[in-house]
Order: sequence, then structure tokens, then C-alpha cells
Amino acid sequence: MSEKTEKWFDSHQETLCRVSRVLWENPEGSEQEYQSCETLKQLLRSHGFSISAPTAGLDTAFTASYGSGRPYIGFLAEYDALPGLAQETVPEPCQIPDQPYGHGCGHNLLGTAAAGAAIALKEAMAAEGLPGTVFLYGCPSEEIMVGKIVMAKNHVFDDLDAAISWHPGDRNRASEESYQAMLSMEYHFRGKASHAAMAPEEGFSALDAVELMDVGVNYLREHVPAGGQLHYVILNGGEKPNIVPEKAAVWQFIRANTTQDLQRIAGRMDDIAKGAAIMTGTAVEKKILTGCNETRIVPALARLLEQVMSQEVAPPVWSEEEKEFSRKLLAALGQSPDTLRQNYGADAWENPLHDRTDALTGKTVNILGSSDISDVSYVVPTCMLFAACYPMGTPNHTWAVTACAGGSIGQKGMIYAGRVMAAAGYHLLTDGELRERVKASFREALQGAAYTPVA
Ligand SMILES: [Zn+2]
Repeated sequence: MSEKTEKWFDSHQETLCRVSRVLWENPEGSEQEYQSCETLKQLLRSHGFSISAPTAGLDTAFTASYGSGRPYIGFLAEYDALPGLAQETVPEPCQIPDQPYGHGCGHNLLGTAAAGAAIALKEAMAAEGLPGTVFLYGCPSEEIMVGKIVMAKNHVFDDLDAAISWHPGDRNRASEESYQAMLSMEYHFRGKASHAAMAPEEGFSALDAVELMDVGVNYLREHVPAGGQLHYVILNGGEKPNIVPEKAAVWQFIRANTTQDLQRIAGRMDDIAKGAAIMTGTAVEKKILTGCNETRIVPALARLLEQVMSQEVAPPVWSEEEKEFSRKLLAALGQSPDTLRQNYGADAWENPLHDRTDALTGKTVNILGSSDISDVSYVVPTCMLFAACYPMGTPNHTWAVTACAGGSIGQKGMIYAGRVMAAAGYHLLTDGELRERVKASFREALQGAAYTPVA
């Protein structure tokens, strides 16, 4: 372990908390993170990093780097916020008026900790005269599944020896979780308008096609591979009941545990759309919005994170005040002491903030939901950890996460995550044998699969 990376965090906690708070107070949606991006760039620049921007043609993406030559160690930062989740730092719902976005996924913490880890590693490199290059990638628009996918397609990460990231969560653990592969598509149907009462026989209803497609999709649900999920919303159902709708559209999401399963489901969904078009005499056009692969877990990297978390960096110690805040927050979310104890252990209500590190299971675990980090995991050895930034049992993407991400609970989790990432980066930078093991573990995880963007 590098005492230098730890020392840097000891003396810069306040700086990082302030930066995370600036991001929290100025939440910006995907593709609009101009200020957040500037704030992080400024932090990195003031600590000796060179900045190149934009990256991969994305206005709010950037690359910060320090050092020269190999190895190449990369940290991934996110900083977009979510619509409708502005919330004061209080343990009950209390929206901030006139603020359209809020950090309900804690990306203000995510981006700041990743930048902190990069700077701490840089300080250790400078102090010890270590060779290598440390990168911090500003990855925008995670919430709409864009940033890292576009960056991966543009070969931004290709040369890294390892990519390290984290996400705020309700427990401390190295991630063995594989996010689902995902596809987001719009199906636009076009028919022929006519007067619904006077000339219905002249009409071809695009809305009928959308409804029949959705019926087909709902029947498909039973026959998708395990883990497969289908979600949709109707984007356009026509203008007025007395006009046969000429245009109608439905937005479909498919998720699956593997990209292979995803493509199988997508093929069947296309057939359903064609069938709906034939049945209604309409035409259909598909528009793919975005998509990602599933995450490839690199066991050697997960073990490295677990080693750092269990032996080198101590998890946060929570104050009585933070525990009391958490209990109030959980009560406001409808969690009772009994359910919390049932799900998280006998002392979970008394200690609702995770203060240990979960052990690895040694297996890749499929979890629900998707992340654009998965595409990075197909290109270079990638790892992430979860750090407790809100009480156990708190659902992500809620006001409760925004509340914690703006205060001391989230900030303690952020500092911890930064320390872990920096220490892991130091091991990777200084241990050639470890890098070789990681490379072999990555090859095994890929099982010969080459990176193909889903969309
Ligand atoms: Zn997130």
C-alpha cells in the first residue's frame, strides 16, 4: 500500500468534499454537464494534470493525464444528474424548488472520488519517481447510456492496462456484478389517416400496429432467456380519436444477461414489429437509440480491490448523528426496523450504514440494470467497487440518494472509494506481475469475445 496516496487523501478531504458539493449544488443532466466537467477539469489541472477535451467528439467528455510511458492506469469519472430528483439534505422528501435535476445516483461523489484517486496516485508517482501514466476520463451522459459507449467505440480506452471505477451504493464491496446487456429502440409505424366515423375503411391505423406490437412483446416475455426483460412506453398514439392515426411509435428496452441473449430477443422483437405492420397494413421503421454489452468481470482485479478494502483502507466510521439521519430516512422510505433486520442482519436498524467489507463470492453475479461501463470491460481489464454512501435498503435513483449525496454520509463513502481506487491503482502501477495476472484473467473473462458495440 502506498502511504503517499493515503496521505494525500488525509490532507485533501475538505477539497474533495467541497468539489462534490459544488457538483451537487449545480446538478446537470446528461449531455449538459458543462459546469460539472469544468469543475473537475479545474481540480485536475490545479494538481498538475494536462487536459484534453472534448474527447470522442463529446462536448462534456475529457481526458486528463499525468506522467509518461507505460503502464497506463485509468480512472473513470461520471457527473451527470437525474431529472426530478432535486432534494434538500434532509431525511424526508423535500424538493428544491426550480431545480430540474438532482444527484439521485450520486454521480457528484462518483466523479469527485475518481478525480481524487487519480491525483493521489499522481502524487505518489511524483514523490517516488515512478514511471507510467495516470489517466482520468471524464465520462458524461451515463444515465442515458452514451458516454463510455461512444468513447469505447472511438478507442479512447484501448491502451489502458486497467480501468478503475466505483459507484455509490448501500454496502462496501468489490464488484463481481455483471450489469445486463441492453438495447433501446424506437419503432415508428406509419399508416394512412382517414375520418374515423365517415371513412374508417380508408384508414390504416399506426396505433393499431403499436398496440399489436405490444401484445406480441407481452407474449414474447414468457419465452426470453432467463434474465431477459422487456420495458416499453408509447411515444405517440395519434392525435385525436376521430382521426385514424397515421403515425404512432413505441419505445422499447430489452435487457438480457448476455449480449448473445440480447440479440436473440432483439431478432424476435423485430419479427413482432414486422408482423404488426403486416396485420395493420402499415410500414415500420426502427431507430436504435443506444445499447450496451454485459459486464465482463476480471476476477484478478476484483480480488485486488477486495484485498485493498479488507486489509489496507479502513471503511468509514459513522457518527450517531449519521445513523439517526439514516433511520429517519429509511422510515420516510417506508422501511421498518423488522424488514431491515430481516434483510440486512440483526443490528441493521441500529447500524444502518454499512461499516464492513463484504467478501467476494468468487463468481460473476448477474444483476438487474445496465451501465455503459460494460463496454469498457470488453476493451480493457475493468473493475469497480461499491462504497456505502447511503443506508442499507435505500433504493438508488431516489430523493433519498440525493439527500445523502449532498452531506457527510455520501462524502465519507466518496473519500473511502477514492482511497481504495488510488491504492489499487498504486498496486497496478508498481507490480508488473500483478498486471500480467490481470491480463491473463481478462483474457479468460472474455473467452475469445471481441468488442462489438451493440448499437
Ligand atoms: Zn449511477
